Amino acid sequence: MDNTEYEYQGDERLLRRETENQLRAAFESLPHKVTFYLFTRRGDKDVLTQAARDLVQAFLQLSSKLELREYDLQDELARKWRVDTSPTLVFEPDRYSIRYLGVPYGEEARTFLAALMLLGRRTPGLSEQSLQVIKKIDDSRAIKVFVSATCPYCPDQAVNAIKAAMELPQLISLEIIDIQSNPEQANRYSAFSVPQTFANDILIAQGAQPEELFMLSLLKMDQQTIFIPETEAELVETDVVVVGGGPAGLAAGIYTVRSGLKTAVIERGPLGGQVATTPVVENYPGFTRVPGKALVDILVSHALEYVQIFQGEEVLDIQQGERIALTTNRRRFIAKAVILATGANYKRLGVPGEAELAGRGVSYCATCDGPLFKGKRVVVIGGGNSAATEALHLFNIGVPVTIIHRRDKLRAQEHLVKSIRDNDIPVRWNTEVKEIQGGKKVSEVLLYNSQSGQTTVFQTDGVFIAIGYSPAVELAQKLGVEITPDGFIMHDSRHRTNIRGIYSAGDVEGGFKQIVTAMGQGTEAALSVFEDLMHPYWAQEEKD
Ligand code: NAP
Repeated sequence: MDNTEYEYQGDERLLRRETENQLRAAFESLPHKVTFYLFTRRGDKDVLTQAARDLVQAFLQLSSKLELREYDLQDELARKWRVDTSPTLVFEPDRYSIRYLGVPYGEEARTFLAALMLLGRRTPGLSEQSLQVIKKIDDSRAIKVFVSATCPYCPDQAVNAIKAAMELPQLISLEIIDIQSNPEQANRYSAFSVPQTFANDILIAQGAQPEELFMLSLLKMDQQTIFIPETEAELVETDVVVVGGGPAGLAAGIYTVRSGLKTAVIERGPLGGQVATTPVVENYPGFTRVPGKALVDILVSHALEYVQIFQGEEVLDIQQGERIALTTNRRRFIAKAVILATGANYKRLGVPGEAELAGRGVSYCATCDGPLFKGKRVVVIGGGNSAATEALHLFNIGVPVTIIHRRDKLRAQEHLVKSIRDNDIPVRWNTEVKEIQGGKKVSEVLLYNSQSGQTTVFQTDGVFIAIGYSPAVELAQKLGVEITPDGFIMHDSRHRTNIRGIYSAGDVEGGFKQIVTAMGQGTEAALSVFEDLMHPYWAQEEKD
């Protein structure tokens, strides 16, 4: 027997037992029982039904606070509650209108768990700002959130919707729809990227939103992008604020706290940044092959041992004075130093059809949306590490994929290039996408071959764009931080920017853009902050 493997499995079992104990304790602490119903129909998606049963049972056996009743779709109750798809979970129907269509497995187990915890407390725990917004809703909203098991962003958005449905049960009903179990619904709504949120059949959000922005979109029945808090929010005084919860920000948080500095990490979206949606990471030393999301989970649990993370909060304003004042959608922070680890946003192609068909076949996340395209034809655009990784992921999950690259050579690492070659993944060389076409959803792309000068039409169901990232420097610019000609934050070797007390780390600084280098930059920035706060270099400069 291979000892390593034995030990590894032992660790895994230990981990599972520990998680189960934590869940048991969490369920036992709930003040109320949670009753939920599973509706099924024999002969209809039996494999999914069994998966739903298994998943639910795994939770049920942990606590008597959870109660399940299973009914056939033929049952009178199904007719009464208008449940018509198998499997469907209906939660606490006497109080709320919240149901889950499909199987909450993979990432979606987090949604299921959050639902149980919120329902067991019978309080949605909305922030003060969210409450002010949702209270203004005075007519009904039927929410649908489309999610998938491989989407790390989805649980955040689903939980926003659960909280809304709990806060206003008379007005708000909710269906969380797992698109892999319900492709026909996804087709009907042309929801080919997740999460996507509809209210009364109107699209109100693409992607996950901070809680307050979700409530505002629900109130306005339109996609909102900015939330301005109405009242004076709570104040948090701290030594350091780290903006960004990717590898750089989390590493910085661990190091500042370990240096004895009180620290807050603020992250508007899901934690982990780009890594969270990287299918597999093969170059993080210590792990030969690890799914990006698994690596993020390990990193986040480690960070949480030290640092408080304010997730779902977006820094809306930042002002430098004697100390630095930051305002988020929920509260204000005062800090002695700020580390900007804001990362990068994916680049858009900028061709006709891209914006119009976003979420309708145009996607920037193969991990999240790939499973929807099994057996369909897709293209991946780009020639770097991201394009290669995404193309391999799509190929591996059974999506026929063609790479479209504007040059005659990929610039991805040789290891990835070899895998593309070995798997015979077709590449259209010297080819640019000029337009993405389609009606309700993507149907074709217009390709221009720069060698032959020919334009051709290529039929495709999906377009995955992986052409790199632009540094997220909006906040830095607001503060007057100098930016390099390439658009990155200008900084010295100690990660100080031109503004005293403001530091940078990670992809926003440019450089190699690897997970380990981002963490290294976060670590260095944290240690610089510590040294500068102990021995302020500016005191000397002022004396001189
Ligand atoms: P990247 O390395 O900048 O590559 C972008 C690719 O997209 C290039 O091939 C580029 O073509 C192409 N491109 C850019 N703009 C385009 C446009 N308008 N139209 C068509 N094609 C366009 O970006 P990335 O692959 O997203 O990687 C970003 C960073 O993260 C890199 O530093 C990368 O090493 C790192 N990363 C690492 C890993 C890993 O180590 N496994 C995985 C993912 C990302 P040209 O070649 O013609 O410029």
